[in-house]
Amino acid sequence: MSASHTDRTCLAAAATAALDYLAGLREQRVFPSGEALALLNELRTPMPDRGRSADDVVRQLGTLGASTTVATAGPRFFGYVTGGAVPASAAAAWLAAAWDQTPSDGRLSPLVAELERVTGAWLLDLLRLPTGSCVGYVTGSTMANLVGLAAGREYVMQGQNWDVQAKGLIGAPPIRIIVGAEVHATIPKALGLLGLGRDTAIRVAADKQGRMIASAVPPLGPDCIVCLQAGNVNSGAFDPFADIIPKAKEAGAWVHIDGAFGLVAAASPEHAPLLAGHDLADSWSVSGHKWFNTPYDCGVAINRHPDLVRRAFAYNASYLDPDTSSARNFVPELSRRARAVEMYAALASLGKEGVRELVVRSCGHARRFAEGLSRLGFEILNEVVLNKCVAAIGENGTAQRIAAHVSDSGEAWFSTTEWQGRSAIRLSISNWSTTTADIDRTLSAIERAVRAEGLLP
Ligand SMILES: *Cc1c(COP(=O)(O)O)cnc(C)c1O
Repeated sequence: MSASHTDRTCLAAAATAALDYLAGLREQRVFPSGEALALLNELRTPMPDRGRSADDVVRQLGTLGASTTVATAGPRFFGYVTGGAVPASAAAAWLAAAWDQTPSDGRLSPLVAELERVTGAWLLDLLRLPTGSCVGYVTGSTMANLVGLAAGREYVMQGQNWDVQAKGLIGAPPIRIIVGAEVHATIPKALGLLGLGRDTAIRVAADKQGRMIASAVPPLGPDCIVCLQAGNVNSGAFDPFADIIPKAKEAGAWVHIDGAFGLVAAASPEHAPLLAGHDLADSWSVSGHKWFNTPYDCGVAINRHPDLVRRAFAYNASYLDPDTSSARNFVPELSRRARAVEMYAALASLGKEGVRELVVRSCGHARRFAEGLSRLGFEILNEVVLNKCVAAIGENGTAQRIAAHVSDSGEAWFSTTEWQGRSAIRLSISNWSTTTADIDRTLSAIERAVRAEGLLP
């Protein structure tokens, strides 16, 4: 290894491959062909004794990636709320990789520490959350949920004079967890990791759109953590925050909102009424890599009670910066990527207006899907209030075959789901580059699949 940091051939090869990739993304097959995927076999070699040149390695990756990636960053991937990466954010990620900064200790990267503070304040304003809340960067909403629930556990245990950091949960006073019937699977996972058990939560009945039924919430108390949801993964619906949170707070309970994608709707005045009362909660999660369109591995844990988060996540050692407001005291990791670089680039390039337009546009696309699919004989199962459309057709198995047909065509990709006992196709729209033409092109691909099923003349 004698490459210098300015090995321009290697870096330029990466830049060229990335630029070519992005230039072709709109027309690339969304799911790679079987033939292309067979190329992955070339990776299955023993680890080499002697390294190859950086240039050679980068060229190999660039060529492989050009045909074997799933175009989740492109305009016709509707599988999950994946978002893409707005150009400024993707470019900022390249810069961040060159800088290789970590914000675990303020002295290691004053730049990233400042970007975290600035974007933190911007996010609170944009998402209409209380100023003074702490904002921690994590890998995604899975971990942001964990942070919120860890602070909630801290709160409940402190209220019962139990030092859960020192003593753990062995012999601890009881704690009640309340979730909706349609809770996202990352919440039970976080509860399991926190020693609260994946199956112990009280599940409150949900209505046909997956919203928690407020009148079915049991009597609450200071021993409770209530987990609500902004944006159901199938329907996009929101739990009725204004009906549940004030009562929960009056009873002394902790309230967490899983807002992985749905919280972003707060940035759109047209959609903000769906979230009414969300700002009364104690903790919130949101993913950068979903609707904010930052590259992957970017989530945000927001919390009204910085002291409780610090109690749960404080990390100090004699060799570290003694500043207890250092970011490492508010998130699970010590070393981590400088995710705020990408978030800054996304928010600064979109502006408030751009985020609002992204939300409005995505939701408009979902309605266009609903109209088009109705014309093709689908039954739309959800109220299309956000960026999602769930549609059933034919007998069991038809939705799966239609999704497979479209995936094979390379035109678009979406998943299937079970919703209200029906199997259905499920389309989520969150990519900044998706246009009306992309929706129509996908509807044409679906129409061909429906014809192949013999369901249209
Ligand atoms: C995607 C999602 C999560 C998990 O978020 P990651 O960023 O993938 O970890 C949690 N809750 C909801 C509602 C989601 O849609």
